[in-house]
Amino acid sequence: MAEEKNVWEMTQNRLDKTMRILELKPGIIKYLREPRKVLEVAVTVKMDNKDIDIFKGCRVQHNTNRGPAKGGIRYHQDVNVDEVKALAMLMTWKCSLAGIPFGGAKGGIAVDPTKLSLRELENLTRRYTYEILTMIGPEKDIPAPDVGTNAQVMAWIMDTYSIAKGHMVPGVVTGKPIPLGGSQGREEATSRGAVYTILSALKVLDINASNLTCAVQGFGNVGGYAAKILFDLGFKIVALSDIGGAVYNKKGIDPYKVAEHLKEKGTVAGYSGAESLDPKEFFSVKCDIMVPAALENVITAKNAAGIKARILAEGANAPTTPEADEILNDNKIFVIPDILCNSGGVTVSYFEWVQGNDAYFWSKRKVNLQLREIMEKAFYETYDYSQKNKLDMRNAAMALAVLRVAEAMRLRGVYP
Ligand code: NAD
Repeated sequence: MAEEKNVWEMTQNRLDKTMRILELKPGIIKYLREPRKVLEVAVTVKMDNKDIDIFKGCRVQHNTNRGPAKGGIRYHQDVNVDEVKALAMLMTWKCSLAGIPFGGAKGGIAVDPTKLSLRELENLTRRYTYEILTMIGPEKDIPAPDVGTNAQVMAWIMDTYSIAKGHMVPGVVTGKPIPLGGSQGREEATSRGAVYTILSALKVLDINASNLTCAVQGFGNVGGYAAKILFDLGFKIVALSDIGGAVYNKKGIDPYKVAEHLKEKGTVAGYSGAESLDPKEFFSVKCDIMVPAALENVITAKNAAGIKARILAEGANAPTTPEADEILNDNKIFVIPDILCNSGGVTVSYFEWVQGNDAYFWSKRKVNLQLREIMEKAFYETYDYSQKNKLDMRNAAMALAVLRVAEAMRLRGVYP
């Protein structure tokens, strides 16, 4: 992955560009460029070898003007405060664009979770929760899974928080296991939402959906389900990749079989139903729809010109650098930007929060129908704004999202 750019700087620069388009006042610009709260913590963990280890972690709230802060927790060896600040800011725009009543937050720990035993992972999670306890809560900041975390991690966070409060507080996290108040459809929600935006894009671009080919980078929560949902809808998956390598088959790949291979081997690489592909060549694969669903900054000035897809659907957060964005625009590639494309996860997290607050749980059918409604509304609002104001989809999405946050700020005023 990774280019020369600091992802925080890149995210701030993207906001600056939006501010120039919207001509907002300098004070508002200053306000929205910085996070509201940043808490850095040293997470002390009892390891299996009876020694202790220390991992750097943080929780960042970017903005709470439209509601409680909302955002995932990432466990990855490259996590740093700047990256988390960028991802928290993206959450503010994402919730705003989806029209759900949350602000933006993110958290993370610099750790490779695959190197920890289950007990170490639990110790790490519980200690981290303790360290950020004052910051989170169902009415103020609600974590969720992100790269390297899952429903079990959310269950440990919920349990630790609940012990501290003296009663069960399911609303402190979303993405929980179903028996603890998780929502039907949450696990695949980001991918399902992304697919709804792809289907909407095909409609506005007047592209017939039959016989279209797709390439998906990343085969974790987002990429894995995206590949399966697209496959189930009749799209042909021609390339898949993960951290272990990439595979290609122009006749099509069955992602369910790849998932079985992954279970056994720990990577998509080596799957026998496809040939191996150099990961560096991944983005130049010939396909109609390209779905980056791994990490940020993977589409850069170096590889953007090679992208042949008609639609780039950003399942991952911030996968495209601004330089690459310009190349994609010049090449008339229709980009469904991250804050629109991958907002299905936070949308169903919102449903989970609503269901938990009501203590009344919806069917999967209802979750998916409501998700479709919100994703399509957000897509068409963005598309209409882009057409009306002659902006590309990323700038239109950013402009709409920022306008709504600025309006909430104006209405609330500044205390004192
Ligand atoms: P995950 O940990 O489940 O999966 C990540 C995948 O990316 C894995 O298959 C991993 O092997 C692969 N990967 C890592 N480095 C890679 C590399 N250099 N090249 C190719 N593949 C690589 O994470 P996830 O939850 O699927 O999240 C993926 C992206 O989607 C992240 O940017 C995340 O912030 C974003 N996102 C996730 C959600 C969600 O609900 N999980 C919601 C919105 C956005």
